[in-house]
Amino acid sequence: MLKRNSLSITASRKKILQLFLSHTGALAHGDIEVTAGEKFDRVTVYRTLQTFVEKGIIHTIPTADNSIRYALCKDDCSEGYHHDHHIHFVCDVCGNTYCLDDVVTPEIRLPKGYTAGQVEVVVEGICKNCKTPELRS
Ligand SMILES: [Zn+2]
Ligand SMILES: [Zn+2]
Ligand SMILES: [Zn+2]
Repeated sequence: MLKRNSLSITASRKKILQLFLSHTGALAHGDIEVTAGEKFDRVTVYRTLQTFVEKGIIHTIPTADNSIRYALCKDDCSEGYHHDHHIHFVCDVCGNTYCLDDVVTPEIRLPKGYTAGQVEVVVEGICKNCKTPELRS
């Protein structure tokens, strides 16, 4: 994956990419820092994440508390251009953020004179892993 994006393989890149590959859902910047922080300093972690975003490997997800989350991109993202037109789901119970790849961002009709750029849709609720029978009734 790193080679495909013409990135040299460094220990930090490898480690952080592995984090994403072994994790379903999004990762918070803080979590990545904690997990990778044993081996790499904050600046390295930050730069690695920036590089991944620029290369179209991961995308950022906005959160209500202004912390940044990242998730792996699908194959059609490329350097300098993201095609992540899916919505994100934040679970109120477990706090995980999921990419709902099959749900396309709805088109927003804007008043005349406004041009939309990136549209971010974040849905909050209870994910399928947390939906217990008791909650369903
Ligand atoms: Zn992307
Ligand atoms: Zn959940
Ligand atoms: Zn996503």
